[in-house]
Amino acid sequence: MSSPLDPVQNRLLAELELAEFHRLFPHLELVKLVRKDVLYQAGGKMFYVYFPTSATISIDYVLENGGTSEIASIGNEGMLGISLFMGGLNAHSRAVVQLDGYAFRLSAQRLMDEFYHKGPLLRLLLRYAQARLTMVSQLAVCNSHHTTEQRLCRWLLQTLDRSLSSELPITQEAIGAILGVRREGITEATGRLQMAGVVKWRRGHVNVLSREGLNERVCECYEVVCSATTRLATKLGPEFALGKPPWRERNLLVSRRAVGTDRRKHDSAADDAVEESQLEELHRE
Ligand SMILES: [Zn+2]
Repeated sequence: MSSPLDPVQNRLLAELELAEFHRLFPHLELVKLVRKDVLYQAGGKMFYVYFPTSATISIDYVLENGGTSEIASIGNEGMLGISLFMGGLNAHSRAVVQLDGYAFRLSAQRLMDEFYHKGPLLRLLLRYAQARLTMVSQLAVCNSHHTTEQRLCRWLLQTLDRSLSSELPITQEAIGAILGVRREGITEATGRLQMAGVVKWRRGHVNVLSREGLNERVCECYEVVCSATTRLATKLGPEFALGKPPWRERNLLVSRRAVGTDRRKHDSAADDAVEESQLEELHRE
């Protein structure tokens, strides 16, 4: 049975060569992500990269008036932190947890060590970066040309693809904020889907009753994004069923407190200076 505590639920980790997979194992840390946890602040250092297994992370642009606009979302098909290996030490935008769930995190330094190892991970991450560009570009097209209902269907289908359940823990208000749509607009679109028996909303959860109904109403953007992520998956073999590795028990103890302390953990200026110099050194190599 699929479990968010299994790293191969992240499709990038599942694509690693077996040798790389084993090499990274001791450095992967399972973390529980809770909605609204901020993983990166715009301009802040990226101390970790995240490989979600069941959580969804949103990359937002925060406007001067406090409003937000989603630039990209990341689920179990990807990784948060790609700008690290493209030359950026700082996050260009805020990254916040959109849906509760789990992820495996890896220190930025460890990722860069692997990256400069020039193994298959390098090629995989570059392919993923290409897919992310496609997703971001398509989101811009979608926001400009498609209706709220079409965009809502796209978001629901994309999120279902990343989820192990047909019930998603999110309010209409939160979806409205993600899509950048006023409350009346999202209420109207969700109302139509409920009337058609496609979804049922109750107490902060949406239950998708008919995936076919979403497919009939969604815009072309969903297919474009699906194709981009499908191209990443070239293998997922039975050799990745590794039984019960020791990190599983150890890292189950990692709590929200541990996740939410990316910044707090680095409160001291001295720690920050050491980490920054290490990262800068890596990029000079
Ligand atoms: Zn669209």
